[in-house]
Amino acid sequence: MRTISVLGSTGSIGTQTLDVVRHNPDARAAALSAGKNVLKLEEQIREFRPRVAALADEESAMDLRGRVRDLDVRVVSGMDGLIEAATIEEADITVTAIVGMIGIRPTIAAIRAGKDIALANKETLVTAGHLIMPLAKECGVRILPVDSEHSAIFQSLNGENYERIEKILLTCSGGPFRGRSGRELKHVTVEDALRHPNWNMGPKITVDSATLVNKGLEVMEAGWLFGVDADHIEVVVQPQSVIHSAVQFIDGAVIAQMGTPDMRLPIQYALFWPDRRPMRTDRLDLFSLRSLTFQRPDTEVFRGLPLALRAMRRGGTMPTVFNAANERAVAKFLRHEIGFLDIYRIIESCMDEHKVLPEPDLETILETEKEVYRRIG
Ligand code: NDP
Repeated sequence: MRTISVLGSTGSIGTQTLDVVRHNPDARAAALSAGKNVLKLEEQIREFRPRVAALADEESAMDLRGRVRDLDVRVVSGMDGLIEAATIEEADITVTAIVGMIGIRPTIAAIRAGKDIALANKETLVTAGHLIMPLAKECGVRILPVDSEHSAIFQSLNGENYERIEKILLTCSGGPFRGRSGRELKHVTVEDALRHPNWNMGPKITVDSATLVNKGLEVMEAGWLFGVDADHIEVVVQPQSVIHSAVQFIDGAVIAQMGTPDMRLPIQYALFWPDRRPMRTDRLDLFSLRSLTFQRPDTEVFRGLPLALRAMRRGGTMPTVFNAANERAVAKFLRHEIGFLDIYRIIESCMDEHKVLPEPDLETILETEKEVYRRIG
C-alpha cells in the first residue's frame, strides 16, 4: 500500500495525482489540501475518503466541515492545517503540488516527519534548496521529482553515477510565444499567455512557461536535485515536447526520456519509484512524428531565463527575490494590471535593488519574500 498526502489536491498536478491514485488499487490518499476550492475538495473527500483535509482559511474550512459532517474526516485550516496534512502519520510520501513559496514550511515539516517528497512545487527548491537537500539527506528521505523535465533527467540517471554527468540537456517547448519579437510581446493578453501549445497546467506556471521564467526556475531546481551548476545545464528548445530532457555523460553518451506530454507519467513514477507501473496513456508513435526540431532559446526576448541564471549564480537570497518578484508580477498580470513585458521589468528592478544575504535561514527567506511583496505592492 502506498499512502499519500497531496498538498494542492484541487490543482492541475493534484487532480492528476488523484487520477493516478484512482488507477492504482494499492494507493490511498490519507490527506488532501486546497486553497479555497471547497466544492472540489468536498468532491475529492467523498471519492478518496482521506482522514485529514486542509484549506487555506478558517472560513472555507467551516463551510467544508458543514458539507462533510456525514464523513469521518478532520477538516483543518491555515499553515498549521497544511502542516498537519503534510505530516499525517500514515502517509509514506507527500506530494507538494501547491503553488508558490507557501510550500516551503509544509515540505520541511514533511521531511522532518520522515516522508518522502514527490516534489512539484519547484519554488521550494529554488528558494530553499540549500536547506531542503541537506535536511532530506539527514532525515533519510528522498526528493522525487514530479516536474516532467526533472523526472526525465532522473529516469535518464537511473543506475548511473551522478559524478559522470557532463551536462544536463533541459528541454523547453518555448511556450506560446516562441519565435515572437519583443515588439510583438508588448501587447499580448492574459488569454494569449494561457494558451500553452502542449501542456495543460495551472495559470501561474502557464504564464511562467510563456516568459521562460519557468525554465529558469527549472534550471535552479535541476541544480539542487542533481548537484550541477548553471554552467552544466543547457536549455534546448524542443517545440514538440517529445523529448522531456536528457543527460549527456562524460563518454559522450546522451540518454533521454521521451513520451507524449502527460504529467501522470512522472507523477506515477515518483509515487512508485523504483517500480515502473503500467499506465493507460497515449503511446508515442515515432512513425507519425513528422520531425523533431531543436533551437537555442531566445534569451534577448525571453529574459526570464537569463535573469534566473543571474539569480542562480549570485545565490543566497537572490533566487528568493527572483521567485517572489515573479510570483507577484504574474499575479498582477493575471489580474490585467500590468503588461506581459512588465513581468521582466519588475523582476529585474527587484534584483537590481536587492542586497544579497548569503546562506539564508528559513526566516530570512520568508522575510525577503515579504520585503519583495511590500516593494511591488
Ligand atoms: P494550480 O494552480 O493548478 O493548483 C495549485 C493548488 O494549490 C490548488 O490545489 C490550490 O487550491 C492550492 N493553493 C493555492 N494557493 C494556496 C494557499 N494559499 N494555501 C493552500 N493551498 C493553496 O497549480 P499547478 O498544479 O499547475 O502547479 C502546482 C505546483 O506544481 C507549482 O509549483 C508548479 O510550478 C508545479 N508544477 C506544475 C506542473 C503542471 O503541469 N501543472 C508541472 C510541473 C510543476 P485551490 O484550487 O483551492 O486554489
